[in-house]
Amino acid sequence: MNYLIRIYKDVSVSAMETFACCPLCNSELTHFDQVHISARKEDAEFTEIRVNAITADVEMNAGPGPGIDWGRRYRISLIGWCEYCGHEFAIVFRQVKGNTPVEIVNRGEIDVREKSVTGGP
Ligand SMILES: [Zn+2]
Repeated sequence: MNYLIRIYKDVSVSAMETFACCPLCNSELTHFDQVHISARKEDAEFTEIRVNAITADVEMNAGPGPGIDWGRRYRISLIGWCEYCGHEFAIVFRQVKGNTPVEIVNRGEIDVREKSVTGGP
């Protein structure tokens, strides 16, 4: 069973500290270094915004973000990668009325050595 966030039960660690796990292989060796927001009011056109947490670059009109179902409202994507399996992935939160479906998008294999140095594209 995969967990997006695993509660770490070691008593020497703060009860509030958790680890975000790779949604593809369940490893804790993850990096989240980009956020993509597909902003819009219901049924309006998206404004696509991407923020790179390493370089501090903010790209407006960044092109479509990751996702499976575009829905009718906004989307917030956390883009990360895994040292263990070497894949980039996105965890996408999509607003649908009173619910927040979560999509997992496998963005394919990456060069982990390059990613860890530059923060990726
Ligand atoms: Zn992984």
